[in-house]
Amino acid sequence: MPTTDYTEFLHNVKQEYITNSYELDGIFIFDIELPATSHICPKCGETTKHIKDYRIRTVKFGKVQRGPLIGKYRQRRYICPHCGHSFAESNPFVRKHMQLSVTNIRMLSDKLTESVTYTAIANECDTSITTVLR
Ligand SMILES: [Zn+2]
Repeated sequence: MPTTDYTEFLHNVKQEYITNSYELDGIFIFDIELPATSHICPKCGETTKHIKDYRIRTVKFGKVQRGPLIGKYRQRRYICPHCGHSFAESNPFVRKHMQLSVTNIRMLSDKLTESVTYTAIANECDTSITTVLR
């Protein structure tokens, strides 16, 4: 599939972060994993490279003509050997506790300023009306 259609949606996701991409029932799925790097412990400020575990997060990147774009983000968690605190790695495309990507949220906000219905926006950004209203 041509990746050019998706650059607007995936511009926070570097090509090398995408480990796999496939289509499933009209949904375009990208497996995303970031390279392991040193992270600063948010609790004590020490640097750590110790990986604790991984969690798969589903990230909605929006919708292209052919269907929704879904990222399966394998988010790494680090553990700090100094204080024992564990925390998720930082990433440029999805915020904590959110399911919509940063780019998708920006597109959603842009659309709110235009005179389109909430239903149309929800449909286009592959989310629910309640999320749009929030
Ligand atoms: Zn620490």
